[in-house]
Amino acid sequence: MCVANLVMPYKFTFDLSKVPRFFFTEVARVSYNKGMHKTFLNTLQDIITKFRIQEATGLNLSDAVVLLQDFIDLQAVNLLERGKFLQSKKRALFLSHCSRKYMDSRCKAVFDANIPSYTCAHCSEDCLINQADRLAKKKGYDVYVVPGGSCISKILKANGYEGVVGVACGEEIKMAVDTLGSMDVAGQAIPLIKNGCANTAFSLETLNKTL
Ligand code: SF4
Ligand code: SF4
Repeated sequence: MCVANLVMPYKFTFDLSKVPRFFFTEVARVSYNKGMHKTFLNTLQDIITKFRIQEATGLNLSDAVVLLQDFIDLQAVNLLERGKFLQSKKRALFLSHCSRKYMDSRCKAVFDANIPSYTCAHCSEDCLINQADRLAKKKGYDVYVVPGGSCISKILKANGYEGVVGVACGEEIKMAVDTLGSMDVAGQAIPLIKNGCANTAFSLETLNKTL
């Protein structure tokens, strides 16, 4: 049985929800060129300065570099996997339980340990999980809201998905990428733009484009 991951992987908390959208476009652009820069670290530091990431998040420079590096690595994996993902027929969306509007009994989602996943009961229109669930189901995806990455391999083994979109913090996604690779499933990752293991956030716009 999978258990909730109560360990926060990053040693710092962040909130990129107020950073200009162009920042993410810039991350994508740099990801294309990754490996071609001899001064890649300087490039990261330039982006952090340009978008005033430290001022917007309160992160120190080394934490901001770690975060940006993860964003770029995930974007690079997305680009590599995109072609295979687009050819996949049976797909699933994995959402992290920490993006629910409520983490207590006000969330009416039901957790089934046999799957293992929450099923959103659509109790709050402005809940990100609710909105993502509706969006993905309209596009033919099965949707899982999981309390930890360890749930994913059980669900994949039981259902034979060919393509998976996953929303989680960078470190959780990195672990999931290894799982998907070992099972030959094409993955697309959407990192949280606000972490903290509760009231976290992701971009619905990015999710919509990725699905
Ligand atoms: S909309 Fe769904 S996930 Fe969000 S709080 Fe309600 S039941 Fe929980
Ligand atoms: S996905 Fe959410 S709950 Fe899981 S470790 Fe990351 S921030 Fe915490």
